[in-house]
Amino acid sequence: MIYLDHNATTPLRPEVFEAMRPFLTERWGNPSSSYAFGSSLKSVIEEARGHVAALLGASAREIVFTGSATESNNTALLAALSADPAKRHIVTSAVEHSAVLNHTIFLEKHGYRVTRLPVDRDGLLDLATLDAALAPDTAVVSLMAANNETGVLFPVADIAALCARRGVRFHCDAVQAVGKLPLNLKSLPVDYLSLSAHKLGGPKGVGALIVRKGAPFAPHLHGGHQERGRGGGTENVAGIVGLGRAAELARAELPAYAAAVKPLRDRLESELLARVPSAERNGHATQRLPNTTNLTFPGIESEALLLLLDQAGICASAGSACLADSDEPSHVVRAMKPASAASRQMVRFSLGKETTMAEIDAAVSAVVTAAGRLQRS
Ligand code: PLP
Repeated sequence: MIYLDHNATTPLRPEVFEAMRPFLTERWGNPSSSYAFGSSLKSVIEEARGHVAALLGASAREIVFTGSATESNNTALLAALSADPAKRHIVTSAVEHSAVLNHTIFLEKHGYRVTRLPVDRDGLLDLATLDAALAPDTAVVSLMAANNETGVLFPVADIAALCARRGVRFHCDAVQAVGKLPLNLKSLPVDYLSLSAHKLGGPKGVGALIVRKGAPFAPHLHGGHQERGRGGGTENVAGIVGLGRAAELARAELPAYAAAVKPLRDRLESELLARVPSAERNGHATQRLPNTTNLTFPGIESEALLLLLDQAGICASAGSACLADSDEPSHVVRAMKPASAASRQMVRFSLGKETTMAEIDAAVSAVVTAAGRLQRS
């Protein structure tokens, strides 16, 4: 198998598994218990919190562990909205992940006003359009750091500065950026930031929401006192330890990440653009994650190509894994290129640290062969 779908999920790193193992076997207590077998787990959770905080330049008290980035995203919007019930306006973009997009559709049905900012043909956002969209009743701006389908980057520092200047809370879905790009919250006035462990070599079913000091917070789950009352429910100790270890490794390896994956991504992209007739890239050439390429192969439906690639042992996708079972075209590529069929004829390839040049060469020839077959038929 050649796995080129790291934006959907990443393999659990062996070091992460080893760190988690004791908490799935011998140390299975409940951290809220009064006896040491349980309560000793509190310090384990705090150690993991420290690693997540260090990766992002946050303070440990700002980290709230969640069950997924979907939960983080939902919680952040609700927290910002609950701070001032008179503010009923949300600004987001047309290309957010469904964990923001579908939540804003839900909120719209409950009386909130939502502005979805457009992007240009390259997937880029215009700051002047954002500035113009902010209204006196805007409660929160929710924009992603890096797009999961195209890898295109939004200018998070500029957005954060603009929101701070205009007195509007800013939530950033940074799921695809964490561990791939340096993010330092010491110099980034983001109010809320979401991340997910399984995108950086950690386990599924655990994420975090960073709630910056001073940002309003209302728990989304009402239950026990866990997470200092900010997230009820018995902690997923093994998952949290896994996220902590993945964050620790990501921090150490971040400086080498782009240099490792970008040459491979560039080779895959340039070979496919050269060898599949009329193939085109979706997404800006440089304002992009180093591991992602999203290509349209005109005349070839995404599903047909993915099926042949699957038969050849290659894992890639047509956009977000969360929407793979729907037959909707990619809302991201459609927002970029509304007049073309690009959104139905695209494939996302996303590489990981362990991807090799031999895999890239094999993938190129499989895609060229499959595309040739489909174009002829
Ligand atoms: N946001 C983005 C940008 C994502 O890519 C994903 C996962 O694909 C999510 C949110 C949701 O993350 P989780 O699977 O932890 O709910």
